[in-house]
Amino acid sequence: MDFVDRLLICADCRQEFIFTAGEQLFFLDKQFKNDPKRCKPCKSRRAGMVAAAGAGPAAAGISRTETRTMCSECGIETTVPFKPTQGRPVLCRQCFQAKRAPAIAGAGSISQATAELVAAAANTAAGEHSASPTISETLGAPMQLP
Ligand SMILES: [Zn+2]
Ligand SMILES: [Zn+2]
Repeated sequence: MDFVDRLLICADCRQEFIFTAGEQLFFLDKQFKNDPKRCKPCKSRRAGMVAAAGAGPAAAGISRTETRTMCSECGIETTVPFKPTQGRPVLCRQCFQAKRAPAIAGAGSISQATAELVAAAANTAAGEHSASPTISETLGAPMQLP
């Protein structure tokens, strides 16, 4: 099947834009059923807005790489920004934080110097942000423990 460049109308700015043959092939390859709705500038502008507004997974929606799963510790439903590996524990933010702290304190496998550095960093973080309820967010999304 041959593709030819097509002219589409952007849903945002109402300008014509070219849906190129290469893009049509890409869409077919990805099995996208619908034509693109927006021109590239509008699309990237929207993407930028989403990124700017996306303070957290909830704001950005769980449509991209977020995976719904259950916390293996407390059993609540949580979302993780990666695909959980079968048989490995996935923790919600609270449990992840709770698990991480003792792991740093009892860091037997890493060198003494590194352990002290990590402990110092942990103390700094805890000291400076202990008043903030959003400490889990400043430390990033939950990770999958090895
Ligand atoms: Zn546009
Ligand atoms: Zn949990």
